[in-house]
Amino acid sequence: MTTHLDYKTISEIFRRFQASEPEPKGELDHVNAYTLVVAVALSAQATDIGVNRATAELFMVADTPEKMLALGEEGLIEHIKTIGLFRNKAKNVIKLSQRLVDVYDSTVPSSRAALESLPGVGRKTANVVLNMWFHQPTQAVDTHIFRFGNRTGVAIGKDVVAVERAIEDHIPAEYQHHAHHWMILHGRYICKARKPVCANCIIADLCDSEDKTI
Ligand code: SF4
Repeated sequence: MTTHLDYKTISEIFRRFQASEPEPKGELDHVNAYTLVVAVALSAQATDIGVNRATAELFMVADTPEKMLALGEEGLIEHIKTIGLFRNKAKNVIKLSQRLVDVYDSTVPSSRAALESLPGVGRKTANVVLNMWFHQPTQAVDTHIFRFGNRTGVAIGKDVVAVERAIEDHIPAEYQHHAHHWMILHGRYICKARKPVCANCIIADLCDSEDKTI
């Protein structure tokens, strides 16, 4: 069974991630904090590319909670019906927009509790918004991070919350802010689920995963 890598090895892995991509960005398009919340809420069980395709036009007509409420649930569905679970997501986007208007003066709140009080916003969405918009060192663990962390021993956990805690516990502070983006990108494009592209992996010499293909 994989065990946690030692501090020196984890530090070297993130030093290389940082050297190859100093300012990693999330891949969900947005134009302000509100559209980031909406994009992340729409992205559950959907690809970023699919969400971006749908939101390109949506955000031209509805980039504030008020405009989204004016568009209405049926109008919103017309824009997002190519995205999985669109009916439920449309309901939540309308409800969260209403709550932003009613409770938060139409601005996106910056505390975890307030974010998680918005319909359709769970821990992962809150972590993405806190990290990308409010520059907090939060970790939004998705399927790529979960696989990469457990496969390599960078961050081991039996569920996403345990992996989130392992990242906070084991990854040096100077890398915490961008840690989840580096791991998402590495997991999505290199350390893939079925066949990791180990020949192109910049940390291959530090990895002794049994899934390694070289
Ligand atoms: S060597 Fe292969 S298995 Fe190890 S981290 Fe790189 S891509 Fe993943």
